[in-house]
Amino acid sequence: RDGHAIPHPQLEIRQQATLHGPLIREHTMLQSFNARTQEPFGSSIAPTSAAELEAAIQAADLAFDTWQASDGATRAKLLNALAEAIEHDREKLVELADTETGLGPVRLNGELDRTAFQLRRFATLAETGGAFAFTDDPAVAGAPPAGHPHMMRVRVPLGPVAMFSASNFPFAFSVLGGDTASALAAGCSVVVKAHSGHLHTSQRVFEQSQHAIAKLGLPKGLLQMVQGAGNDVGVNLIKHPRIAAGAFTGSTRGGAALRDAARARVRPIPFYGELGSINPVVATPAALKAGGDALVQTLAGSITLGCGQFCTNPGLLVLQRSAESTEFVNHLVEALKTQKPHAMLTKAMRQSLDHGTAAQLAAGAKALLHTPVAEINPNPYLAEVDAATFMAQHALQEEVFGPATLVVWTDSVEQTLDVLHTVGGSLTVTLWGAEQESADAKRLVRGSTAIAGRVLFAGVPTGVAVTAAQQHGGPWPSSTEPMTTSVGDAALDRFLRPVCLQDMPAWLHKRQGQPC
Ligand code: NAP
Repeated sequence: RDGHAIPHPQLEIRQQATLHGPLIREHTMLQSFNARTQEPFGSSIAPTSAAELEAAIQAADLAFDTWQASDGATRAKLLNALAEAIEHDREKLVELADTETGLGPVRLNGELDRTAFQLRRFATLAETGGAFAFTDDPAVAGAPPAGHPHMMRVRVPLGPVAMFSASNFPFAFSVLGGDTASALAAGCSVVVKAHSGHLHTSQRVFEQSQHAIAKLGLPKGLLQMVQGAGNDVGVNLIKHPRIAAGAFTGSTRGGAALRDAARARVRPIPFYGELGSINPVVATPAALKAGGDALVQTLAGSITLGCGQFCTNPGLLVLQRSAESTEFVNHLVEALKTQKPHAMLTKAMRQSLDHGTAAQLAAGAKALLHTPVAEINPNPYLAEVDAATFMAQHALQEEVFGPATLVVWTDSVEQTLDVLHTVGGSLTVTLWGAEQESADAKRLVRGSTAIAGRVLFAGVPTGVAVTAAQQHGGPWPSSTEPMTTSVGDAALDRFLRPVCLQDMPAWLHKRQGQPC
Protein backbone atom coordinates (compact mmCIF):
# COMPACT_ATOMS: atom_id res chain seq x y z
CA ARG A 1 0.00 0.00 0.00
CA ASP A 2 1.43 3.35 -0.89
CA GLY A 3 -1.17 5.64 0.61
CA HIS A 4 -2.41 8.70 -1.16
CA ALA A 5 0.06 11.24 -2.38
CA ILE A 6 -0.33 14.37 -0.31
CA PRO A 7 0.92 17.49 -2.06
CA HIS A 8 2.23 20.32 0.07
CA PRO A 9 0.47 23.64 -0.41
CA GLN A 10 2.14 24.76 2.81
CA LEU A 11 5.15 25.37 0.67
CA GLU A 12 5.27 28.43 -1.46
CA ILE A 13 7.82 27.63 -4.08
CA ARG A 14 8.96 30.69 -5.94
CA GLN A 15 9.79 30.11 -9.53
CA GLN A 16 13.20 31.77 -9.50
CA ALA A 17 14.54 28.53 -7.99
CA THR A 18 17.96 27.74 -9.36
CA LEU A 19 20.15 24.72 -8.93
CA HIS A 20 23.08 25.14 -6.61
CA GLY A 21 25.32 22.29 -5.61
CA PRO A 22 24.31 18.78 -6.53
CA LEU A 23 20.56 18.83 -5.92
CA ILE A 24 19.35 21.51 -3.55
CA ARG A 25 17.18 24.33 -4.93
CA GLU A 26 18.16 27.64 -3.44
CA HIS A 27 16.25 30.96 -3.30
CA THR A 28 13.07 28.94 -2.82
CA MET A 29 11.30 30.59 0.09
CA LEU A 30 9.16 28.59 2.49
CA GLN A 31 5.87 30.01 3.69
CA SER A 32 3.81 28.85 6.63
CA PHE A 33 0.02 29.01 6.63
CA ASN A 34 -2.71 29.50 9.21
CA ALA A 35 -4.37 26.05 9.27
CA ARG A 36 -7.84 27.45 9.93
CA THR A 37 -7.92 30.32 7.45
CA GLN A 38 -5.34 29.03 4.95
CA GLU A 39 -3.88 32.56 4.93
CA PRO A 40 -0.08 32.93 4.84
CA PHE A 41 1.28 33.08 8.37
CA GLY A 42 4.45 34.82 9.51
CA SER A 43 7.45 35.76 7.44
CA SER A 44 8.76 33.44 4.77
CA ILE A 45 11.77 31.35 5.68
CA ALA A 46 14.84 30.69 3.59
CA PRO A 47 15.37 26.98 2.97
CA THR A 48 18.55 25.27 4.03
CA SER A 49 21.15 25.66 1.29
CA ALA A 50 23.55 22.92 0.23
CA ALA A 51 26.34 24.62 2.18
CA GLU A 52 24.17 24.94 5.30
CA LEU A 53 23.12 21.30 5.09
CA GLU A 54 26.76 20.29 4.89
CA ALA A 55 27.62 22.53 7.86
CA ALA A 56 24.76 21.10 9.94
CA ILE A 57 25.87 17.52 9.28
CA GLN A 58 29.52 18.34 9.96
CA ALA A 59 28.53 20.00 13.26
CA ALA A 60 26.46 16.94 14.23
CA ASP A 61 29.36 14.68 13.35
CA LEU A 62 31.77 16.73 15.44
CA ALA A 63 29.38 16.76 18.40
CA PHE A 64 28.93 12.99 18.11
CA ASP A 65 32.64 12.53 18.57
CA THR A 66 32.44 13.49 22.24
CA TRP A 67 28.75 12.79 22.93
CA GLN A 68 29.14 9.06 22.21
CA ALA A 69 31.42 8.77 25.25
CA SER A 70 29.27 10.92 27.56
CA ASP A 71 28.00 9.41 30.78
CA GLY A 72 24.36 8.92 31.72
CA ALA A 73 24.27 11.92 34.05
CA THR A 74 25.40 14.30 31.29
CA ARG A 75 22.83 12.92 28.85
CA ALA A 76 20.12 13.21 31.50
CA LYS A 77 21.08 16.81 32.22
CA LEU A 78 20.64 17.71 28.56
CA LEU A 79 17.34 15.86 28.13
CA ASN A 80 15.90 17.38 31.32
CA ALA A 81 17.01 20.84 30.20
CA LEU A 82 15.29 20.36 26.85
CA ALA A 83 12.07 19.34 28.63
CA GLU A 84 12.28 22.45 30.80
CA ALA A 85 12.99 24.65 27.78
CA ILE A 86 9.74 23.75 26.00
CA GLU A 87 7.72 23.90 29.22
CA HIS A 88 9.12 27.32 29.94
CA ASP A 89 8.09 28.57 26.49
CA ARG A 90 4.76 26.72 26.54
CA GLU A 91 2.49 29.69 25.95
CA LYS A 92 4.21 30.91 22.80
CA LEU A 93 4.86 27.42 21.45
CA VAL A 94 1.24 26.33 21.85
CA GLU A 95 0.02 29.56 20.27
CA LEU A 96 2.31 29.09 17.27
CA ALA A 97 1.48 25.41 16.86
CA ASP A 98 -2.22 26.13 17.16
CA THR A 99 -2.04 28.67 14.34
CA GLU A 100 0.02 26.41 12.09
CA THR A 101 -1.87 23.16 12.74
CA GLY A 102 -5.32 24.13 14.05
CA LEU A 103 -5.11 21.28 16.57
CA GLY A 104 -6.35 23.43 19.45
CA PRO A 105 -4.71 24.48 22.74
CA VAL A 106 -6.05 21.57 24.81
CA ARG A 107 -4.58 18.93 22.54
CA LEU A 108 -1.36 20.91 22.02
CA ASN A 109 -0.78 21.53 25.73
CA GLY A 110 -1.28 17.79 26.26
CA GLU A 111 1.14 17.02 23.46
CA LEU A 112 3.73 19.38 24.90
CA ASP A 113 3.35 17.65 28.30
CA ARG A 114 3.85 14.30 26.62
CA THR A 115 6.94 15.56 24.79
CA ALA A 116 8.49 16.82 28.04
CA PHE A 117 7.57 13.51 29.71
CA GLN A 118 9.32 11.58 26.92
CA LEU A 119 12.45 13.68 27.23
CA ARG A 120 12.53 13.12 31.00
CA ARG A 121 11.84 9.42 30.64
CA PHE A 122 14.83 9.02 28.33
CA ALA A 123 16.85 11.15 30.75
CA THR A 124 16.05 8.62 33.48
CA LEU A 125 16.84 5.72 31.17
CA ALA A 126 20.24 7.23 30.34
CA GLU A 127 20.97 7.96 33.99
CA THR A 128 20.00 4.50 35.18
CA GLY A 129 22.19 2.80 32.60
CA GLY A 130 19.64 1.85 29.93
CA ALA A 131 21.99 2.93 27.16
CA PHE A 132 24.95 1.10 28.67
CA ALA A 133 23.50 -2.37 29.24
CA PHE A 134 26.08 -5.06 28.52
CA THR A 135 26.63 -8.81 28.78
CA ASP A 136 29.86 -9.86 30.48
CA ASP A 137 31.03 -13.37 29.67
CA PRO A 138 34.14 -14.28 31.73
CA ALA A 139 36.78 -16.49 30.12
CA VAL A 140 36.26 -20.22 30.38
CA ALA A 141 39.41 -22.36 30.34
CA GLY A 142 39.70 -25.32 28.02
CA ALA A 143 39.23 -26.11 24.38
CA PRO A 144 36.34 -24.74 22.33
CA PRO A 145 33.43 -24.98 22.00
CA ALA A 146 33.06 -24.86 25.81
CA GLY A 147 36.24 -22.89 26.44
CA HIS A 148 36.39 -19.26 25.30
CA PRO A 149 38.13 -15.93 25.95
CA HIS A 150 36.74 -13.13 28.13
CA MET A 151 33.99 -11.50 26.07
CA MET A 152 31.82 -8.50 26.74
CA ARG A 153 28.90 -7.56 24.53
CA VAL A 154 28.35 -3.80 24.68
CA ARG A 155 26.39 -1.39 22.51
CA VAL A 156 27.76 1.66 20.73
CA PRO A 157 25.78 4.64 19.42
CA LEU A 158 25.41 4.68 15.64
CA GLY A 159 26.40 8.27 14.87
CA PRO A 160 24.52 11.35 13.64
CA VAL A 161 20.84 10.51 13.02
CA ALA A 162 18.67 12.16 10.33
CA MET A 163 15.23 12.72 11.85
CA PHE A 164 12.11 13.50 9.81
CA SER A 165 9.18 15.16 11.61
CA ALA A 166 5.50 14.40 11.07
CA SER A 167 2.82 16.98 10.30
CA ASN A 168 0.26 15.79 12.86
CA PHE A 169 2.47 15.96 15.96
CA PRO A 170 4.19 19.37 15.99
CA PHE A 171 5.84 18.53 19.33
CA ALA A 172 5.81 14.79 20.11
CA PHE A 173 7.02 13.54 16.68
CA SER A 174 8.96 16.64 15.75
CA VAL A 175 12.15 18.55 16.64
CA LEU A 176 12.26 17.37 20.28
CA GLY A 177 10.04 14.32 19.78
CA GLY A 178 10.60 10.71 20.75
CA ASP A 179 13.15 10.02 18.01
CA THR A 180 15.34 12.94 19.08
CA ALA A 181 15.00 12.07 22.77
CA SER A 182 15.90 8.41 22.27
CA ALA A 183 18.77 9.18 19.89
CA LEU A 184 20.34 11.72 22.28
CA ALA A 185 19.92 9.30 25.19
CA ALA A 186 21.65 6.62 23.13
CA GLY A 187 24.66 8.91 22.58
CA CYS A 188 23.85 10.04 19.02
CA SER A 189 23.60 13.56 17.64
CA VAL A 190 20.56 14.52 15.56
CA VAL A 191 19.86 16.51 12.40
CA VAL A 192 16.13 17.22 12.19
CA LYS A 193 14.35 17.79 8.89
CA ALA A 194 11.50 20.04 10.09
CA HIS A 195 8.03 19.50 8.69
CA SER A 196 6.74 22.06 6.22
CA GLY A 197 3.35 22.09 8.02
CA HIS A 198 4.70 23.83 11.15
CA LEU A 199 7.77 25.79 10.14
CA HIS A 200 7.64 28.50 12.81
CA THR A 201 6.83 26.09 15.65
CA SER A 202 9.80 23.94 14.61
CA GLN A 203 12.03 27.00 14.36
CA ARG A 204 11.08 28.17 17.86
CA VAL A 205 11.49 24.72 19.46
CA PHE A 206 14.87 24.52 17.77
CA GLU A 207 15.93 27.94 19.07
CA GLN A 208 14.87 27.02 22.61
CA SER A 209 16.85 23.79 22.30
CA GLN A 210 19.94 25.66 21.16
CA HIS A 211 19.73 27.99 24.19
CA ALA A 212 19.44 25.01 26.52
CA ILE A 213 22.39 23.24 24.88
CA ALA A 214 24.55 26.39 25.02
CA LYS A 215 23.66 26.98 28.69
CA LEU A 216 25.02 23.54 29.53
CA GLY A 217 28.20 24.25 27.58
CA LEU A 218 27.52 21.35 25.22
CA PRO A 219 28.25 21.43 21.47
CA LYS A 220 25.40 22.97 19.46
CA GLY A 221 25.92 20.25 16.85
CA LEU A 222 24.14 17.80 19.16
CA LEU A 223 20.92 19.03 17.60
CA GLN A 224 20.76 20.62 14.17
CA MET A 225 17.74 21.50 12.07
CA VAL A 226 17.24 21.85 8.33
CA GLN A 227 14.20 22.93 6.29
CA GLY A 228 13.49 22.70 2.60
CA ALA A 229 10.99 22.86 -0.18
CA GLY A 230 10.32 19.67 -2.10
CA ASN A 231 12.29 16.63 -1.10
CA ASP A 232 15.84 17.67 -1.95
CA VAL A 233 16.95 18.62 1.55
CA GLY A 234 15.56 15.42 3.09
CA VAL A 235 16.97 13.15 0.40
CA ASN A 236 20.41 14.79 0.53
CA LEU A 237 20.35 14.53 4.30
CA ILE A 238 19.66 10.79 4.34
CA LYS A 239 22.23 10.19 1.59
CA HIS A 240 25.04 12.07 3.34
CA PRO A 241 27.96 9.73 4.16
CA ARG A 242 28.24 11.11 7.72
CA ILE A 243 24.63 10.24 8.56
CA ALA A 244 24.46 6.88 10.31
CA ALA A 245 20.69 6.24 10.57
CA GLY A 246 17.31 7.69 9.65
CA ALA A 247 14.23 8.04 11.84
CA PHE A 248 11.00 9.01 10.11
CA THR A 249 7.37 9.54 11.08
CA GLY A 250 4.96 10.22 8.26
CA SER A 251 3.28 8.81 5.21
CA THR A 252 3.97 5.39 3.77
CA ARG A 253 4.88 6.95 0.45
CA GLY A 254 7.38 9.44 1.95
CA GLY A 255 8.83 6.80 4.27
CA ALA A 256 9.29 4.33 1.42
CA ALA A 257 11.08 6.93 -0.71
CA LEU A 258 13.51 7.82 2.08
CA ARG A 259 14.04 4.17 3.04
CA ASP A 260 14.94 3.45 -0.58
CA ALA A 261 17.38 6.37 -0.58
CA ALA A 262 18.94 5.04 2.66
CA ARG A 263 19.29 1.59 1.11
CA ALA A 264 20.66 2.88 -2.20
CA ARG A 265 23.66 4.52 -0.53
CA VAL A 266 27.10 3.08 -1.20
CA ARG A 267 26.98 2.12 2.47
CA PRO A 268 23.29 1.53 3.34
CA ILE A 269 22.18 2.63 6.80
CA PRO A 270 19.31 1.63 9.12
CA PHE A 271 16.11 3.54 8.44
CA TYR A 272 13.36 3.49 11.06
CA GLY A 273 10.17 4.62 9.38
CA GLU A 274 6.89 4.83 11.30
CA LEU A 275 4.27 5.04 8.61
CA GLY A 276 0.55 5.03 7.94
CA SER A 277 -1.84 2.43 9.34
CA ILE A 278 -5.53 1.46 9.11
CA ASN A 279 -5.87 -0.04 12.62
CA PRO A 280 -8.64 -2.66 12.35
CA VAL A 281 -11.15 -2.92 15.20
CA VAL A 282 -12.50 -6.48 15.38
CA ALA A 283 -15.56 -7.05 17.55
CA THR A 284 -17.75 -10.06 18.28
CA PRO A 285 -21.53 -9.52 18.29
CA ALA A 286 -21.58 -10.33 22.02
CA ALA A 287 -18.95 -7.67 22.78
CA LEU A 288 -20.88 -5.04 20.84
CA LYS A 289 -24.06 -5.91 22.73
CA ALA A 290 -22.29 -5.80 26.08
CA GLY A 291 -20.54 -2.50 25.25
CA GLY A 292 -23.79 -0.83 24.29
CA ASP A 293 -24.04 2.90 23.79
CA ALA A 294 -20.91 3.66 25.82
CA LEU A 295 -18.85 1.69 23.31
CA VAL A 296 -20.57 3.41 20.38
CA GLN A 297 -19.72 6.84 21.81
CA THR A 298 -16.13 5.85 22.61
CA LEU A 299 -15.55 4.61 19.08
CA ALA A 300 -17.19 7.67 17.49
CA GLY A 301 -14.91 9.87 19.63
CA SER A 302 -11.84 7.90 18.57
CA ILE A 303 -12.72 8.10 14.85
CA THR A 304 -13.06 11.89 14.99
CA LEU A 305 -10.37 12.68 17.60
CA GLY A 306 -7.96 15.29 16.23
CA CYS A 307 -10.08 15.27 13.05
CA GLY A 308 -9.01 11.66 12.55
CA GLN A 309 -5.40 12.74 11.96
CA PHE A 310 -3.76 10.06 14.07
CA CYS A 311 -1.66 7.18 12.81
CA THR A 312 -3.67 5.02 15.24
CA ASN A 313 -7.07 6.21 13.99
CA PRO A 314 -9.51 3.26 13.72
CA GLY A 315 -9.94 3.15 9.94
CA LEU A 316 -11.47 -0.32 9.71
CA LEU A 317 -14.28 -1.96 11.66
CA VAL A 318 -14.40 -5.73 11.05
CA LEU A 319 -17.76 -7.11 12.18
CA GLN A 320 -19.47 -10.45 11.85
CA ARG A 321 -22.95 -10.14 10.35
CA SER A 322 -25.52 -10.24 13.16
CA ALA A 323 -28.45 -8.23 14.54
CA GLU A 324 -26.17 -6.88 17.31
CA SER A 325 -23.56 -5.71 14.81
CA THR A 326 -26.15 -4.00 12.62
CA GLU A 327 -27.64 -2.22 15.63
CA PHE A 328 -24.16 -1.08 16.74
CA VAL A 329 -23.38 0.34 13.28
CA ASN A 330 -26.75 2.15 13.13
CA HIS A 331 -26.00 3.77 16.48
CA LEU A 332 -22.47 4.60 15.34
CA VAL A 333 -23.87 6.50 12.35
CA GLU A 334 -26.05 8.54 14.70
CA ALA A 335 -23.17 9.19 17.10
CA LEU A 336 -20.87 10.30 14.26
CA LYS A 337 -23.52 12.71 12.99
CA THR A 338 -23.19 14.66 16.25
CA GLN A 339 -19.37 14.97 15.97
CA LYS A 340 -17.94 18.20 14.58
CA PRO A 341 -14.29 17.65 13.60
CA HIS A 342 -11.98 20.65 13.56
CA ALA A 343 -9.98 21.92 10.59
CA MET A 344 -7.53 19.51 8.98
CA LEU A 345 -3.81 20.25 9.16
CA THR A 346 -3.50 21.36 5.57
CA LYS A 347 -5.68 21.96 2.55
CA ALA A 348 -3.84 19.15 0.78
CA MET A 349 -4.75 16.70 3.54
CA ARG A 350 -8.32 17.86 3.30
CA GLN A 351 -8.32 17.15 -0.44
CA SER A 352 -6.63 13.85 0.16
CA LEU A 353 -9.45 12.83 2.52
CA ASP A 354 -12.00 13.50 -0.23
CA HIS A 355 -9.93 11.51 -2.72
CA GLY A 356 -9.65 8.65 -0.24
CA THR A 357 -13.36 8.40 0.49
CA ALA A 358 -14.20 8.75 -3.22
CA ALA A 359 -11.75 5.95 -4.00
CA GLN A 360 -13.46 3.70 -1.44
CA LEU A 361 -16.90 4.38 -2.91
CA ALA A 362 -15.61 3.80 -6.43
CA ALA A 363 -14.13 0.49 -5.31
CA GLY A 364 -17.46 -0.90 -4.13
CA ALA A 365 -18.00 0.52 -0.63
CA LYS A 366 -21.49 1.86 0.19
CA ALA A 367 -21.76 5.10 2.14
CA LEU A 368 -23.49 4.98 5.51
CA LEU A 369 -22.60 8.56 6.41
CA HIS A 370 -21.22 10.81 3.70
CA THR A 371 -22.08 14.49 3.66
CA PRO A 372 -19.33 16.19 1.65
CA VAL A 373 -18.56 19.84 2.39
CA ALA A 374 -16.11 22.23 0.80
CA GLU A 375 -14.75 23.60 4.09
CA ILE A 376 -11.42 22.71 5.70
CA ASN A 377 -13.47 21.08 8.53
CA PRO A 378 -14.70 17.78 7.09
CA ASN A 379 -17.73 15.80 8.24
CA PRO A 380 -17.19 12.29 9.58
CA TYR A 381 -17.52 9.52 7.01
CA LEU A 382 -18.60 5.89 7.45
CA ALA A 383 -19.01 3.30 4.69
CA GLU A 384 -19.54 -0.44 4.51
CA VAL A 385 -18.42 -3.27 2.30
CA ASP A 386 -18.51 -7.08 2.29
CA ALA A 387 -15.33 -8.97 3.11
CA ALA A 388 -14.89 -10.43 -0.37
CA THR A 389 -14.91 -6.98 -2.02
CA PHE A 390 -12.59 -5.58 0.65
CA MET A 391 -10.08 -8.35 0.02
CA ALA A 392 -10.28 -7.97 -3.76
CA GLN A 393 -9.95 -4.19 -3.90
CA HIS A 394 -6.56 -2.69 -3.10
CA ALA A 395 -8.11 0.79 -2.86
CA LEU A 396 -10.18 -0.27 0.15
CA GLN A 397 -7.09 -1.35 2.06
CA GLU A 398 -5.37 2.04 2.00
CA GLU A 399 -5.20 4.50 4.88
CA VAL A 400 -7.67 7.38 4.49
CA PHE A 401 -6.17 10.05 6.74
CA GLY A 402 -9.00 11.85 8.53
CA PRO A 403 -12.32 11.04 10.30
CA ALA A 404 -13.17 8.14 7.97
CA THR A 405 -13.90 4.50 8.79
CA LEU A 406 -14.89 1.52 6.69
CA VAL A 407 -17.08 -1.30 8.09
CA VAL A 408 -16.18 -4.70 6.66
CA TRP A 409 -18.86 -7.38 7.05
CA THR A 410 -17.70 -10.94 7.51
CA ASP A 411 -19.65 -14.20 7.66
CA SER A 412 -17.36 -16.15 10.00
CA VAL A 413 -14.28 -16.01 12.20
CA GLU A 414 -12.46 -17.60 9.29
CA GLN A 415 -13.36 -14.68 7.04
CA THR A 416 -12.42 -12.16 9.76
CA LEU A 417 -8.98 -13.78 9.84
CA ASP A 418 -8.74 -13.53 6.06
CA VAL A 419 -9.54 -9.81 6.28
CA LEU A 420 -6.80 -9.29 8.87
CA HIS A 421 -4.38 -11.25 6.71
CA THR A 422 -5.25 -8.98 3.78
CA VAL A 423 -4.54 -5.87 5.88
CA GLY A 424 -1.09 -7.38 6.38
CA GLY A 425 0.48 -4.78 8.68
CA SER A 426 -0.91 -2.27 11.14
CA LEU A 427 0.27 -0.29 14.15
CA THR A 428 -2.66 -1.69 16.11
CA VAL A 429 -5.48 -4.22 16.06
CA THR A 430 -8.28 -3.78 18.58
CA LEU A 431 -10.02 -7.00 19.58
CA TRP A 432 -13.27 -6.71 21.52
CA GLY A 433 -14.71 -10.04 22.68
CA ALA A 434 -11.74 -12.27 23.50
CA GLU A 435 -12.23 -12.31 27.29
CA GLN A 436 -13.07 -16.01 27.49
CA GLU A 437 -10.43 -18.50 26.41
CA SER A 438 -11.70 -20.45 23.42
CA ALA A 439 -10.47 -21.82 20.11
CA ASP A 440 -11.93 -18.81 18.26
CA ALA A 441 -10.44 -16.32 20.75
CA LYS A 442 -7.02 -17.91 20.24
CA ARG A 443 -7.34 -17.76 16.47
CA LEU A 444 -8.34 -14.11 16.62
CA VAL A 445 -5.46 -13.28 18.95
CA ARG A 446 -3.05 -15.11 16.63
CA GLY A 447 -4.49 -13.34 13.58
CA SER A 448 -4.18 -9.97 15.30
CA THR A 449 -0.66 -10.38 16.70
CA ALA A 450 0.46 -11.62 13.27
CA ILE A 451 -0.18 -8.21 11.71
CA ALA A 452 0.03 -5.61 14.50
CA GLY A 453 2.59 -3.98 16.77
CA ARG A 454 0.01 -3.52 19.54
CA VAL A 455 -3.16 -5.53 20.19
CA LEU A 456 -5.76 -3.91 22.45
CA PHE A 457 -8.46 -5.94 24.20
CA ALA A 458 -10.32 -2.93 25.56
CA GLY A 459 -10.66 0.72 24.65
CA VAL A 460 -9.70 2.36 21.38
CA PRO A 461 -6.35 2.56 19.55
CA THR A 462 -5.90 6.35 19.64
CA GLY A 463 -3.55 7.30 22.48
CA VAL A 464 -0.06 5.79 22.63
CA ALA A 465 1.35 5.49 26.15
CA VAL A 466 5.06 6.16 26.62
CA THR A 467 6.03 3.15 28.73
CA ALA A 468 8.49 0.28 28.99
CA ALA A 469 6.15 -2.22 27.30
CA GLN A 470 4.96 -0.01 24.45
CA GLN A 471 5.39 -1.27 20.89
CA HIS A 472 4.66 1.38 18.27
CA GLY A 473 5.42 -0.15 14.93
CA GLY A 474 4.33 -3.23 13.05
CA PRO A 475 4.77 -5.13 9.80
CA TRP A 476 4.88 -3.20 6.53
CA PRO A 477 3.21 -0.83 5.68
CA SER A 478 2.94 0.51 9.22
CA SER A 479 6.69 0.48 9.73
CA THR A 480 9.88 -0.17 7.78
CA GLU A 481 11.42 -1.99 10.77
CA PRO A 482 8.81 -4.13 12.58
CA MET A 483 11.40 -5.38 15.08
CA THR A 484 11.67 -1.90 16.59
CA THR A 485 9.44 0.70 18.24
CA SER A 486 9.43 4.49 17.91
CA VAL A 487 7.57 5.04 21.19
CA GLY A 488 8.50 3.71 24.62
CA ASP A 489 11.75 2.76 26.28
CA ALA A 490 12.86 0.30 23.60
CA ALA A 491 13.03 3.18 21.08
CA LEU A 492 16.53 3.68 22.47
CA ASP A 493 17.72 0.34 21.06
CA ARG A 494 17.31 1.59 17.48
CA PHE A 495 20.34 3.83 17.81
CA LEU A 496 22.71 1.38 19.51
CA ARG A 497 24.71 -1.32 17.70
CA PRO A 498 26.04 -4.35 19.56
CA VAL A 499 29.79 -4.94 19.59
CA CYS A 500 31.64 -7.76 21.32
CA LEU A 501 34.86 -6.78 23.09
CA GLN A 502 37.08 -9.84 23.31
CA ASP A 503 39.93 -10.00 25.83
CA MET A 504 39.51 -6.25 26.42
CA PRO A 505 42.03 -4.32 28.52
CA ALA A 506 41.05 -3.75 32.17
CA TRP A 507 40.37 -0.02 31.69
CA LEU A 508 37.85 -0.77 28.95
CA HIS A 509 36.16 -3.43 31.04
CA LYS A 510 35.93 -0.91 33.88
CA ARG A 511 33.77 1.39 31.74
CA GLN A 512 30.96 -1.14 32.19
CA GLY A 513 29.36 -0.66 28.80
CA GLN A 514 29.98 3.07 28.44
CA PRO A 515 31.66 3.74 25.06
CA CYS A 516 35.03 5.50 25.18
P1 NAP B 1 4.86 13.05 5.08
O1 NAP B 1 4.23 13.89 4.06
O2 NAP B 1 5.40 11.72 4.64
O3 NAP B 1 6.04 13.94 5.73
C1 NAP B 1 6.96 13.47 6.71
C2 NAP B 1 8.34 14.08 6.48
O4 NAP B 1 9.00 13.45 5.37
C3 NAP B 1 8.35 15.56 6.13
O5 NAP B 1 9.52 16.12 6.70
C4 NAP B 1 8.41 15.57 4.63
O6 NAP B 1 9.01 16.74 4.12
C5 NAP B 1 9.32 14.39 4.36
N1 NAP B 1 9.05 13.72 3.08
C6 NAP B 1 7.86 13.24 2.65
N2 NAP B 1 8.01 12.61 1.48
C7 NAP B 1 9.33 12.70 1.16
C8 NAP B 1 10.11 12.24 0.05
N3 NAP B 1 9.56 11.57 -0.97
N4 NAP B 1 11.43 12.50 0.05
C9 NAP B 1 11.99 13.20 1.06
N5 NAP B 1 11.30 13.67 2.12
C10 NAP B 1 9.99 13.42 2.17
O7 NAP B 1 3.87 12.68 6.25
P2 NAP B 1 2.87 13.66 7.05
O8 NAP B 1 1.96 14.30 6.09
O9 NAP B 1 3.62 14.49 7.94
O10 NAP B 1 2.04 12.69 8.03
C11 NAP B 1 0.84 12.03 7.71
C12 NAP B 1 1.11 10.54 7.69
O11 NAP B 1 1.96 10.18 8.77
C13 NAP B 1 -0.13 9.69 7.88
O12 NAP B 1 -0.07 8.64 6.96
C14 NAP B 1 -0.01 9.16 9.30
O13 NAP B 1 -0.66 7.94 9.52
C15 NAP B 1 1.47 9.03 9.43
N6 NAP B 1 1.90 9.07 10.83
C16 NAP B 1 2.47 7.95 11.35
C17 NAP B 1 2.86 7.92 12.68
C18 NAP B 1 3.48 6.68 13.27
O14 NAP B 1 3.96 6.75 14.40
N7 NAP B 1 3.50 5.56 12.58
C19 NAP B 1 2.67 9.05 13.48
C20 NAP B 1 2.11 10.19 12.92
C21 NAP B 1 1.73 10.18 11.57
P3 NAP B 1 8.12 18.04 3.78
O15 NAP B 1 7.54 18.52 5.05
O16 NAP B 1 9.12 18.99 3.23
O17 NAP B 1 7.12 17.59 2.79
